[in-house]
Amino acid sequence: MRALTIITGGSRGIGAATALWLARAGHDLVLCYRGNRDGAEEVAEQATAHGGRCVPVQADVSRESDVERLFDAAAELGTVTGLVNNAGLTAHIADLADTPVEAIRRVIDVNYLGTVLCSRRAAQVMSTRRGGSGGAIVNVSSSGATLGSPHEYVHYAGAKAAVDAFTVGLAKELAQDGVRVNAVAPGLVRTDIHAGAGAPERIDTAVSRVPVGRAGEPEEIAPAIGWLLSPEATYTSGAVLRVAGGL
Ligand code: NAP
Repeated sequence: MRALTIITGGSRGIGAATALWLARAGHDLVLCYRGNRDGAEEVAEQATAHGGRCVPVQADVSRESDVERLFDAAAELGTVTGLVNNAGLTAHIADLADTPVEAIRRVIDVNYLGTVLCSRRAAQVMSTRRGGSGGAIVNVSSSGATLGSPHEYVHYAGAKAAVDAFTVGLAKELAQDGVRVNAVAPGLVRTDIHAGAGAPERIDTAVSRVPVGRAGEPEEIAPAIGWLLSPEATYTSGAVLRVAGGL
């Protein structure tokens, strides 16, 4: 059976690099994006050049009805075998006392609730005990989950720590259902997420904290996600794989 993987936040950054890595590895893809339709269509065009299918679907992962629509679109393509919960944002960089509640709510809703809602649907369709064919889920966490991200976004770090705990628990819950659940925790990666939080310069200002002395590229995160989805990782579940240049 050909792999069919849903990637959330696939229009740019780590999600886009992961889409291209998986397309090269022979996956059909459903590429979820929130607003950047042009970006998603461009990634889909590049992915299909590798011979498989790649369908962009607009969906906000924090909305249950959108998640339903995303999985319905995937079901039209075939049997879902993989989910990458990559959609995320940092939204606002500041001390907690100076962070608007709306930004805090959005960060928790997208990074944590979005991961939970998409994983819930994936468990329903992939679990062998529920008639599915099994599969794998990879959650994109952050090194912030263990570092805490003080003076930047402690609530984001908390949401990613919740993603890690959720990964461990769901891995155990689905261990007898043919579904593996793991996470990848990137460090500082060169994407638009920093500009989206109003700090495009963060790549340069935060790099002094990174032991290897540079930011990572999205293409350096994608293979870790791809490996965790692959048949080579059949005995790996409940792991949080740090890909952070020593951070
Ligand atoms: P990015 O370049 O800003 O891309 C974010 C992606 O998420 C975009 O495709 C965006 O869609 C999508 N997205 C945002 N909100 C969404 C929503 N509500 N529903 C569906 N999709 C949504 O970010 P990135 O740096 O690649 O980050 C990817 C993941 O890695 C995130 O979970 C992030 O927390 C994590 N991470 C990043 C870094 C880093 O330094 N870059 C470090 C550690 C962890 P649109 O383009 O349509 O808006």
